[in-house]
Amino acid sequence: WGAPPAPCRAGGGAMAAGQAGQAGIALVGPAAGAPSCPHGPALLFVKTGRGKEEGRRFYACSACRDRKDCNFFQWEDEKVSETRLAAREEYNRNHQPTFTHRQNVERYKKFVLLPLSKRRFCQECQQLLLPAEWEEHSNHQFLCDISTAQLKSPSQFLYPLENKKTNAQYLFADRSCQFLLNLLIDLGFSRVLSVGTPRLHEMIQSKASQGEDFRVRSLLLDIDFRYSQFYTEDEFCHYNMFNHYFFGGEAAHETCRKFLCEDNGERVILVTDPPFGGLVEALASSFKKLMAMWKEAGKEGQGNKEMPMFWIFPYFFESRILDFFPSFSMMDYQVDYDNHALYKHGKTGRRQSPVRIFTNLTPSMIVLPAEEGYRFCTFCQRYVSSGNQHCEICNSCTSKDGRRWKHCVLCKKCVKPSWFHCNSCNCCALPSHSCEETDSGCFVCGKAGHKRRACPSLSST
Ligand code: SAH
Ligand code: ZN
Ligand code: ZN
Ligand code: ZN
Ligand code: ZN
Repeated sequence: WGAPPAPCRAGGGAMAAGQAGQAGIALVGPAAGAPSCPHGPALLFVKTGRGKEEGRRFYACSACRDRKDCNFFQWEDEKVSETRLAAREEYNRNHQPTFTHRQNVERYKKFVLLPLSKRRFCQECQQLLLPAEWEEHSNHQFLCDISTAQLKSPSQFLYPLENKKTNAQYLFADRSCQFLLNLLIDLGFSRVLSVGTPRLHEMIQSKASQGEDFRVRSLLLDIDFRYSQFYTEDEFCHYNMFNHYFFGGEAAHETCRKFLCEDNGERVILVTDPPFGGLVEALASSFKKLMAMWKEAGKEGQGNKEMPMFWIFPYFFESRILDFFPSFSMMDYQVDYDNHALYKHGKTGRRQSPVRIFTNLTPSMIVLPAEEGYRFCTFCQRYVSSGNQHCEICNSCTSKDGRRWKHCVLCKKCVKPSWFHCNSCNCCALPSHSCEETDSGCFVCGKAGHKRRACPSLSST
């Protein structure tokens, strides 16, 4: 697989450095004139905290957290020689996928004409093979007899991209994917811009191909180029959501623009489930650009409306997301995943998922399934999880994690059920905490000594 290095769930090349050393790393942002790696324009970061390099700014890969995947690095003030620039360009060219998207589309057309017995997929190269290529892959593992149904569900047999550091591609459990799709249909959407949601895209595509009355369409934007083997250029764009970079250039950009603008920009929604672990502002900046593309498109009619969006992300990023999208609110729905034991639904005795839907749609329109215990709170005008009690003092259903929270009169807010008010810290905390020190591990990196807000792996401006 000559494709660019694997993306990872916890995006952000510079964060690896941030976690290794004590010094923090903060994102400055996408910068005009930034140098490029194979993943498009690099992002500008700054070293923070103690140490002699504090304040020094540098460019690093926007997409890869692991240096092994992309080791692009350049100080902002570094002089780069002509020779090195030329070498870099050469390197970037050589690190593009073996086949172009167009070639993959042609290959697919040939592939579907093959009898079942000749349809093979190389598991090592993650590539559909044509018979003439079997030889080259003879000592690789194949999947054989790839059916048409399988071709319509590539996320079921492509292995989830792994990153040893933290995680990988998190694929929706069928239940959550169904729920999302039904919700979108009930809300009246007819087009979904699926940004990093290959499984939602594939569910839409496969229902659409089964004909009937299914009228929803989807365009997938994802950095995982393996998907170009299964979708045409109108169905998939190779895209980096950390720097809003279309690998396919102006043509791919145009595909996306057209998709957003069809039907005067009506009935389209952006649904995204990005890697988490920081770089919220890089994501927000890209999503704002996608929303702006929609806005330009609609011309009349849109007024001050914002493009509808679902941003699927853990609840503990709520305040970060609201910083960038003040019109958003967080829904209680717990999004479940297939390939991660930790992120399964609580009702079956497994752990509860921390992942939620953030949206700029009116909360009361987001109907959550009663079978799973969600109910409507008439005061809050939104659906809440079964354990989420309306607090009369806060005048809100205050639980973030689905458990019942309790009100602390001294803190003047609701807190986690396991917390108690500590008089020496003058706030609520776990009973086991040691005063003045943050005891429980950080939510983001799991290390002790700081809370998630101060996590060095989170960028901040
Ligand atoms: N739950 C989703 C998958 C979410 S995993 C589903 O089941 O459809 C995160 C997705 O974002 C993966 O598909 C991954 O390939 C993609 N991704 C990771 N980094 C990306 C980047 N920099 N730009 C675009 N997509 C990225
Ligand atoms: Zn890179
Ligand atoms: Zn309420
Ligand atoms: Zn309260
Ligand atoms: Zn308290």
